[in-house]
Amino acid sequence: MSSGRGIVLVAIGTVDNTVIEMLKHNLSTVFNTQVTTGKDMAVPGYAFSEKRKQYWSTAILHVLLEQNACIHYKKILGIVDRDLYVPDLNFVFGEAGGDAALISLTRLRQEFHGLPEDSPLFLRRTLTEAVHELGHTYGLRHCSELQCVMFFSNTLRDTDRKGPEFCPPCKSECSKSI
Ligand SMILES: [Zn+2]
Ligand SMILES: [Zn+2]
Repeated sequence: MSSGRGIVLVAIGTVDNTVIEMLKHNLSTVFNTQVTTGKDMAVPGYAFSEKRKQYWSTAILHVLLEQNACIHYKKILGIVDRDLYVPDLNFVFGEAGGDAALISLTRLRQEFHGLPEDSPLFLRRTLTEAVHELGHTYGLRHCSELQCVMFFSNTLRDTDRKGPEFCPPCKSECSKSI
């Protein structure tokens, strides 16, 4: 399995630096590891579906995995400000596979839903989604505990209720694989 240095964050397209700094700070605490900012990536045009006007998250995830095969971090987290989908779903907040995780910021903003901006809420959602997808890369599956970050978010209501913390069993499961 992969070795290497901690988690690397990769901005795909333009991503607000506040988001990167917040993730760097918090993810290093949650996963007890070093978090580095990698080289930005362009948004892969071929992941775009003309029909859906969304980006296919699995295609972007593959680019991240290829990228990490060269730079050798333990985990790679891509952050993109475009709406993501997988063929069976209307949208996804993120996706994980192997040692790579990807999150989309688009739907985490109140403005997307026609509501006034709420920056602290946006950042909390971003952290929640990042911990969830990275949790998968550490081998965690979905959890039935409503308050656990590994609970599957169908809607933002789920994301807001659960928040960025692991339940005790998920926490101990995760620390075993760190
Ligand atoms: Zn999940
Ligand atoms: Zn849990």
